[in-house]
Amino acid sequence: MTLTCGRDILALPGPTTLPDEVLNASHRQPVDIYDGPLLETTDSCLEDLRRVFRTKGKTYIYASNGHGGWEAALTNVLNRGDKILVLESGRFALGWGEMADMLGIDVEVLPGDVRRAVDAEALEARLRNDSEGAIKAILVVQVDTASGVYNDIARLRQAIDAAGHGALFMVDVIASLGTMPFEMDDWGVDIAVAGSQKGLMTPPGLALLAAGERAMAAHPSADLRTLYWDWTFRDGEEHYQKYCGTPPEQLLFALRKALDLLFAEGLEAVFTRHRLLAGAVQRAVSVWAEGGAVDHNILKPEERSDSVTSIRLDPSYDPADLRRYCKDVCGIVLGSGIGPLSGKGFRIAHMGHVGAPAVLASLGGVEIAMQALGIPHGRGGVQAAIDWLAEQVPG
Ligand SMILES: *Cc1c(COP(=O)(O)O)cnc(C)c1O
Repeated sequence: MTLTCGRDILALPGPTTLPDEVLNASHRQPVDIYDGPLLETTDSCLEDLRRVFRTKGKTYIYASNGHGGWEAALTNVLNRGDKILVLESGRFALGWGEMADMLGIDVEVLPGDVRRAVDAEALEARLRNDSEGAIKAILVVQVDTASGVYNDIARLRQAIDAAGHGALFMVDVIASLGTMPFEMDDWGVDIAVAGSQKGLMTPPGLALLAAGERAMAAHPSADLRTLYWDWTFRDGEEHYQKYCGTPPEQLLFALRKALDLLFAEGLEAVFTRHRLLAGAVQRAVSVWAEGGAVDHNILKPEERSDSVTSIRLDPSYDPADLRRYCKDVCGIVLGSGIGPLSGKGFRIAHMGHVGAPAVLASLGGVEIAMQALGIPHGRGGVQAAIDWLAEQVPG
């Protein structure tokens, strides 16, 4: 038997629900790639992405997913054999490091804990030990989508500065851009990598990258450069070069519309909406945790992200059963546990084109599932979420 009807609610940490306006914007026949309005779309998207990344640096749009953006960041500024430091937190920074390893980069991991943010003091201590400056780049994620952790990028920058270290600072904002504040220039970030399909409410298929002055200075001599990702080639005169080939036109129309929607709402309002919805999810999880079978993955509240919440489930229950029930009976599509949390939990995403109705539906679905499957949980998680939202948005 099922209780659902019509569209599912996606509570996945990417790809996320698309606004109808964005879907409609991409519903167009192809246009000339050498001339005409597409050129303006490219220029305005590149310009407006600087507003989103909060940088005066350069921006690039690649026809690729986030993994391509990772490769673009590495190959444009590094050399074979360079040493880099990957700050572990969850799964994604490690994945970026594995990609670097295959490119012939010497990868060192600063070990982390799947339940905590990156330790800024450990970073500072490691960098102080590198007085020769062997480490050429530091890689970190702002939000790790597996663990649900939020890393304080400004604090990590302080640690790098305190150690007086000159490595390039590269940040993966794939699961955070457009959901939480990010200040590329103010926080001294040299390269930031985003993807279209999470906070930016655009279909999967675009990687968006921003590069600051120090990254541009390292670029000319980088020997890992390849034509497809290459900034110099993409900075050429021809529009065709900006995509190293045919532009992903319909995705660009979609991105243009999504950026318009973000600016119309206002970035600050977008961040506030995410913060309040995340607070609602976190309050529900805290109530459920009283039953002893589910718990927050991230231990400290201030280290929990505003875009996705990762929830651990006692090993006597199978998270696949819970997800199946939510999907088949309630029409709620939850994220599975991945990386170190594979088979050990599930994730509720609250990023992008999402509001209180969808978040309360997700929480309600999980509560129905836990009740039906006999998973012990504190009662009233949805009520706690409602209490929080009503308190934060008084009449
Ligand atoms: C989703 C995600 C990626 C991978 O992006 P793809 O588009 O799937 O390649 C990388 N890093 C983070 C933090 C992510 O959330």
